[in-house]
Amino acid sequence: MPDGNPYRIAGPALVSFSGGRTSAFMLKQILDAHGGALPADVHVCFANTGREMPETLDFVEECSRRWSVPIAWLEYDPDAPHHTRIVDHASASRDGEPFRAVIAARGFLPNPVTRFCTTETKIRRAKTFMHHLCGYAHWLNVVGLRADEMRRVSKMTDPVRMARERWTNACPLAEAGVTRSDVAAWWRTQPFDLALPNRDGITPLGNCDLCFLKSEATIRGIIRDHPELAAWWIAREAEARPAKPSGARFRIDRPGYEAMARDAERQGDLIEYLAQEGSIDCACTD
Ligand code: SF4
Repeated sequence: MPDGNPYRIAGPALVSFSGGRTSAFMLKQILDAHGGALPADVHVCFANTGREMPETLDFVEECSRRWSVPIAWLEYDPDAPHHTRIVDHASASRDGEPFRAVIAARGFLPNPVTRFCTTETKIRRAKTFMHHLCGYAHWLNVVGLRADEMRRVSKMTDPVRMARERWTNACPLAEAGVTRSDVAAWWRTQPFDLALPNRDGITPLGNCDLCFLKSEATIRGIIRDHPELAAWWIAREAEARPAKPSGARFRIDRPGYEAMARDAERQGDLIEYLAQEGSIDCACTD
């Protein structure tokens, strides 16, 4: 923060854009603080798991185009140098290919405790981009955590944790005191928006469509509204079953995706669509 403005970023830096409203808001504030164009050593990346909703991909592209900011689209690819493929809006995976390749490489499903989907599809891709592709030894990692997420901010900026990494995390939104309602109010004044439902400032369909960190009620509601999304998650649990015949699931504390999809078919409108989680507690920010 060179002059007390949290949005003025001293490079080398990476602005992590999740494709959500909060990180897009942050990106725009950073652009504005730099007169509309980022310094050459401040980069923006979007890591695509392949399970983001198409609206998210369109939003990332629209932000890039409207604000004239280059965004590096990164995907996990076991056959690419450093397991990282640079794609764009047209070539981005749209059927969970990077996520599926990560599961294949590990040989088991991620779960809330062992969340290697985040590490492999997002954190390591960003690290590879900055270290191997751009050549930086150390950099500032700019994350879209708000002032109403201070527990996560403290965790992210913990000096002990950061000492192990090549980057230092910065949360300019939290520093500027920006809350979820500020972000929502700002988007109401903009000429475009993410075309996914916004429920009290929360985007239930943000990040991976049926991410196992979303509440069970949210997942059931999404399956009810978009039954076609369940197939990919059902297939991954089925693929993992031979290695764990007792039942491979993303979460052992709730039914598998097949059972939730069956319930959705039977119960239809009886399922309450709740967006009870604040945000996903990982690098998968809003
Ligand atoms: S959004 Fe959920 S499923 Fe997707 S990478 Fe993050 S933790 Fe994993």
